[in-house]
Amino acid sequence: MGNNQQTSNTHIAIIGSGMAGLSAAVHLQQLGHSVSVYEAAQHAGGRTRSVHLARAQVDNGQHILLGAYHQTLNLLHRCQIPEHQCLQRFPLDWRVGRLHLRTSKLLPSPINLLLGLIQAVGTTWSEKISLGKLMLGLYLKPSLSKQDDISVAQWLAERAQSVWAIEHIWRPICLAALNTPIEQASAYYFCHVIRDGLLGSHRASDMLLCKQDLSQALINPIIQYLQSQGVNIVYSHRLISIEKLNRGFSLQFANQQQAQASHVILAIPPANLSAFQDSLPQAASWTKQIHYQPITTVYLQYAANISLPAPMLGFPHTSTTNSIELQWLFDRGQFAQQAGLIAVVLSAHGKQDALDNQQLSAEVIRLMSERYPEWGAPLWAKCIREKRATHRCDVGLTPPNMLTETPGLLLAGDYLHPHYPATIEAAVQSGLDCARWIEAQDISR
Ligand SMILES: Cc1cc2nc3c(=O)[nH]c(=O)nc-3n(C[C@H](O)[C@H](O)[C@H](O)COP(=O)(O)OP(=O)(O)OC[C@H]3O[C@@H](n4cnc5c(N)ncnc54)[C@H](O)[C@@H]3O)c2cc1C
Repeated sequence: MGNNQQTSNTHIAIIGSGMAGLSAAVHLQQLGHSVSVYEAAQHAGGRTRSVHLARAQVDNGQHILLGAYHQTLNLLHRCQIPEHQCLQRFPLDWRVGRLHLRTSKLLPSPINLLLGLIQAVGTTWSEKISLGKLMLGLYLKPSLSKQDDISVAQWLAERAQSVWAIEHIWRPICLAALNTPIEQASAYYFCHVIRDGLLGSHRASDMLLCKQDLSQALINPIIQYLQSQGVNIVYSHRLISIEKLNRGFSLQFANQQQAQASHVILAIPPANLSAFQDSLPQAASWTKQIHYQPITTVYLQYAANISLPAPMLGFPHTSTTNSIELQWLFDRGQFAQQAGLIAVVLSAHGKQDALDNQQLSAEVIRLMSERYPEWGAPLWAKCIREKRATHRCDVGLTPPNMLTETPGLLLAGDYLHPHYPATIEAAVQSGLDCARWIEAQDISR
């Protein structure tokens, strides 16, 4: 993966090697274009990557993929990466507080979910009927229009969802999928996630967890595929300016290197777009109006024989507590070959923001020891904060167009999807959209 200094003949330059950039690269290469990927960091993957700790290789935050991530799975297929090599598939197994709902892998959607609801334990029949009605309504009726967007909290209130249902199902789903609290989150985006993710075609609601860390499971195999196909991947190249030429572009990097390209795909996070304000004034001004949400993960290494009853376990929100609240636990021993390693995930802003890493780890350990006193103290703990994990999926959010004011300069990224929140699937789809647009222009190769 050495840096290639001879970059002047590049045809399509992709800036950023996150899932959006990699998706664009794979599709464009397969369409026969010559492609170079320029990445600011020393490694690929962007927000989907691993972090090397002294005692383990972990992710920058626990990621879950869904069976509904059709284009992500298609991308793996195109790179000749068998799903079973990198992902462990589990039928939906929803355990939040006393609620336990699971779907059968033998039945089609949404029958599997409705049957799972009927058989769910830890809830009442009136709750099941109310939840079933709402899900059936979403399945049968098209989603809310963007003009009529309201908050998820308001949308749930209008559908008479109880506090119990909100705290055991809807709030946890909204935090996990939109990384936004229900009071601020867009019902428009939320309905799309429920329809496609929970009620979508067969096995859409399956949870797919990486069998190794993110880089080893997903990113490195895609990079290896691209390199085997002659795609130039150049690390430590931070783009600092784009100059439009009569034909194509001249790119200037922070390390004094330059490159030329006929088309440029800026697959960088939205917060970084303002550096290129002159070339894309609309998108750059859009990014100034959006808000970002963190995701904090505390890794706790317990003895290897420690495990949870399921790979993923949630906790209902309780408004009374003064302490931080555990949201999701992931048992990495059950899918990532890391026995005894528990990932504690805290989405969005919360009381954890006021604590430093040491205080937060101590608080999480205290809460875990209240729930699992027999586990004893962990061998080590490590806190990873992604301060701008995703943009906030606010009511009325309208992403910019992937086509900028500068012809030939395109945008790709998880923030561009018209009805999905910032996810791997949204990023992959946006890379594919760029490739399709370029293909439709029938540019000379
Ligand atoms: C902790 C955490 C947990 C998450 N959990 C989930 C989950 O469970 N499921 C899910 O689907 N999604 C999840 N996500 C969201 C998912 O990771 C992102 O949506 C996705 O990775 C975004 O991909 P991207 O390509 O759009 O952007 P990025 O991954 O941010 O990639 C952009 C790339 O551009 C590079 N770059 C930036 N500026 C420049 C420049 N000037 N020049 C060159 N390169 C540049 C960056 O270094 C980066 O590599 C999570 C995110 C985080 C942070």
